[in-house]
Amino acid sequence: MAIGAHPDDVEVGAGGLVARFVHQGIRVGIVDLAAGEMSTNGTVEERRQEAQRAALMLGAVWRKCLGLPDRDIALIKENVQALVTLIRESKPQLIICPYWEDRHPDHVNAAKLTAEANFDAGLKRIAPHLPPHRAKYIWHYFLSTAVEPQFVVDVSPFYEIKRAAIKAHQTQFGKDREQQTFLNTGPGSMLSIIESRDRFYGARTGCMYGEGFITTAPLAVKDPSLLMGV
Ligand SMILES: [Zn+2]
Repeated sequence: MAIGAHPDDVEVGAGGLVARFVHQGIRVGIVDLAAGEMSTNGTVEERRQEAQRAALMLGAVWRKCLGLPDRDIALIKENVQALVTLIRESKPQLIICPYWEDRHPDHVNAAKLTAEANFDAGLKRIAPHLPPHRAKYIWHYFLSTAVEPQFVVDVSPFYEIKRAAIKAHQTQFGKDREQQTFLNTGPGSMLSIIESRDRFYGARTGCMYGEGFITTAPLAVKDPSLLMGV
């Protein structure tokens, strides 16, 4: 289960990972916590259609919007409960969500909300009409703030898919929009940042493009020789 605060977060932070998992036959669902109604460009309906197109490109089996208020993703019981229901219904092994430090408060809260919901989803006395389920792993991807990752996934063969999925969000990343924003304009635009960051992580780990991730739990390595590329 790939969780984003807004309809393009998953593509930006982990589009390559999603495409890679899908290629391996792993089923991926995407959850957008908010519909993006506070964004400078694009209507909610346009953004919904763009998100669905991007999900198709990545190969996700479903994409849902939880409909929480944009710029006000609050850590309140109702929001936690809405995500608990989705976790129990879809039973993910792994959840990916934004890194917990970021300039956008929604990204920070998306990370916290995910941790709380995944915890509660495993408690059988909470909302007992659905059987408990807790994802075993949570990995955090990077949006505005990128720090030293704990591991980098080589997404080079899937980078064209990632680019296309990001650009599917035309209202946000298209250059012809009514208002210029940091997402769509200039050498320091979001697109440049994403690609430079992924290229940097790739170069650090010996591949063209890499996506970095952080977890709060240690990663178990069954076969350490794989860490040497053997
Ligand atoms: Zn966002």
